[in-house]
Amino acid sequence: MAAGICARCKFELPLPGSRYCASCSEWRRISARDHMRRRTAKRRARGLCTRCGKLPALPDNDNCESCRDYCRVTALARFRRNSAARQEAGLCVRCGERPPARGTLECRPCRDRQRAVASRGIPPLPARYTVTELATGTDHGTWDSVAEVAAALAYAKLTPEDVEIATDHSHTATLISW
Ligand SMILES: [Zn+2]
Ligand SMILES: [Zn+2]
Ligand SMILES: [Zn+2]
Repeated sequence: MAAGICARCKFELPLPGSRYCASCSEWRRISARDHMRRRTAKRRARGLCTRCGKLPALPDNDNCESCRDYCRVTALARFRRNSAARQEAGLCVRCGERPPARGTLECRPCRDRQRAVASRGIPPLPARYTVTELATGTDHGTWDSVAEVAAALAYAKLTPEDVEIATDHSHTATLISW
């Protein structure tokens, strides 16, 4: 993108693949997070969907029905896309880190985790989500909830298609909580 100078301070050199220098990228990240945190907390306190802020949130969710569905659909689309690429690369479709166990699409740690979650019948632990802009590699922060991720994207004027969202749990955990 823009070679030359940082789009914010108009002084420093931008980071490779970014319009902003290191300190301005950090500043943007922190201010987006603060903005979002405040907005999310306000919406949650009012019982509103933390994504759209218009409709009441579902009893067991931070989002209204349509935002929840939207998040699910985009998460599912991303999972499908990731998993196809991973399968092609000969890697576990869930984590993409190890080759799958023989005769399956998942590596052993991922299968064990799935089993453990299923057998305990409890929802997976809350994940943290790290958002990276695909086009620029810009780090848009690590968030505690899907609602925060969605708001971070809205703030940065990005769609879920523009970013890679990595979790510290398996992708199934992501789908369940979404
Ligand atoms: Zn700058
Ligand atoms: Zn909503
Ligand atoms: Zn795996």
